Amino acid sequence: MIYADHNATTPMRPEAREAMLRAAEIGANPSSIHGAGRKARRVLETARKQVAAAIGASAQDVVFTSGGTEASALALQGAARKLEGKQVTLLLTKLEHSAVRDNAAASGLPTKIIPVLANGTLDLEALRAEVTALQDAGHMPFLALMLANNETGVIQPVAEAAQIVREAGGLTHCDAVQGLGKIQVNTLLLGVDFLALSAHKCGGPAGVGALWVRPGAPLIPLMLGGGQERSLRSGTENLLGIAAFGAAAEASVAAMDKMQALADRRDAMEARLKAEAGVTIFGETTARLPNTSCFAQPEFSSDTQVMAMDLEGVCISAGSACSSGKVKVSGVLSAMGVSDALASCAIRISFGWNSVPEDFEAVADAWLKVTARRKAG
Ligand code: PLP
Repeated sequence: MIYADHNATTPMRPEAREAMLRAAEIGANPSSIHGAGRKARRVLETARKQVAAAIGASAQDVVFTSGGTEASALALQGAARKLEGKQVTLLLTKLEHSAVRDNAAASGLPTKIIPVLANGTLDLEALRAEVTALQDAGHMPFLALMLANNETGVIQPVAEAAQIVREAGGLTHCDAVQGLGKIQVNTLLLGVDFLALSAHKCGGPAGVGALWVRPGAPLIPLMLGGGQERSLRSGTENLLGIAAFGAAAEASVAAMDKMQALADRRDAMEARLKAEAGVTIFGETTARLPNTSCFAQPEFSSDTQVMAMDLEGVCISAGSACSSGKVKVSGVLSAMGVSDALASCAIRISFGWNSVPEDFEAVADAWLKVTARRKAG
C-alpha cells in the first residue's frame, strides 16, 4: 500500500512513539507534587519547550489543547469573549478549515469575507481596503488566516496580512496546522497574536495540539476546571500525547531539509501527469507546501478517482479529508474561481516524512492506469 494522504494524518514518527511509551511508564499526574508527579511535570514541560522551539517561541506561551480544532476554538471564541463590548469584526477567507470557519461563526462576532486570488492566496489589497474601512468606522479587525491550505498546499502571505492588521490595531489568528514540519513556522516572523498547531500533521498522535498565545493577547478560557495550562485550558493534560507531540515537532523541524527533495519529486510527478494526461494543477503558480499536489481531470469525479486509486493500493483524498469522508465541492477551489464541474473532479495527493522516492512514480503510474481504464471503458 502507498500512503499519500499525509495532510489528513501523517503516521507517527518513531521519535514520537518512543516518547509516548516513555511517558506511559510514568503513570502520574503532572499536577501532583510527589516524585512521580514531578517526573510527569518534567515530561510535560520538556514537550512544551520542544513545541515552542519548533515555532521560535517561548515555552510559557504554549497552551496544550486536544488538537488544532480546539486551539482555533480557544483563539477565536476566547478572544471574542475577552473583547466583548468592543467593536470587533472578524476577517476570513473561504480558504479556512471548518475548525476556523465554524468557531469564527460561534464567536458571535460580525464577519467579513476577504476575496482570494486565482492562485489561491488571500487578496492583500482587498484586505488592506477592508481594514481601512473598519478603522474608519471605529472597528477593530480580527483576521483569521491559515498558514498553508490543507487542500491545495498554497502558502498564505500571513506576515504581510498580519502587519496590515497590526498597524490598524487589530489581531491575527493563524491556523498553522498544515505548516509545522513542512515549512518554517516562526511566531515572531509571522507577527501574529495566536497560532494553532496539531500533532497528527507533523508525526505525533491525533487528539493533541497547541495554541501559541502572544503575551498580552486578549483571551478568556473556554474550558474551566482545575486551572491547568495557566488556567487557559483546564483538564488533566494528555501527557502521553503531549510527550509524543513534543518529540514529533522537534523531529519534523530537524528533518525539514528533506522537504526540497519531496517538492522536486512532487513537481516531477505533476509534470508527468500534465504531459501525459493534461491535468489541471491548482496553486501551481505560487508557493505551496512541498508535499502537496491538488489537481483535477475533467469528467472523472473525485470520489471515483479516490476509490479507483484505493483499488490500486494508493491512499489519497478528495479535497479535505478532515470532513469525515463527506464529499462536496471544495469551497477552497470555488474561491479560486474554479468551476464546480472541475472542482468536483479534484483530488489531493500528499506525501510525507516516510514517503520513498519510488512512491511518486508509483502514484503517477496508478493514476495514469485508472484514468486510461476509465477512458477505455
Ligand atoms: N486546520 C487545518 C488546516 C487542518 O488541516 C486540520 C485537520 O484536521 C485542522 C485544522 C484540525 O486539526 P485537528 O484534527 O487536530 O483538530
